[in-house]
Amino acid sequence: MSSIFAKIIAREIPADIVYEDELVLAFRDIAPQAPVHILLIPKREIATANDTGPVDEAALGRLVRVAAKIAASEGIAEDGYRLIINCNEHGGQEVFHLHMHLLGGRHLGPMLARRQ
Ligand code: 5GP
Repeated sequence: MSSIFAKIIAREIPADIVYEDELVLAFRDIAPQAPVHILLIPKREIATANDTGPVDEAALGRLVRVAAKIAASEGIAEDGYRLIINCNEHGGQEVFHLHMHLLGGRHLGPMLARRQ
């Protein structure tokens, strides 16, 4: 079943799109967790990182390159940023169309919360 991100690709629901090409789309997260929080997705519907195949290598490589370009245009490349792909339940994935988070604009702290 298609996710909400397929509807964004099809322009069936609105999104603040910052980049698009034939392989990927990037748009601002609806609930930003940092001053810059952008989601980058392959246009092909891939549910999770577990579902990628050789056919996806171009789009997956493009995600990182586009993220770096967007980071530069958002003015956060030099200070730095974080790229995250969550997978399934333990990864905290909520939308089952593979996506990369680009987060930055403030110091993001340790990558994972320490266990108490
Ligand atoms: P996940 O937890 O699956 O890695 O992240 C899903 C992300 O998608 C969340 O950060 C959430 O705020 C974002 N999101 C969910 N629905 C929408 C939507 O309809 N539009 C946009 N722009 N972001 C969404």
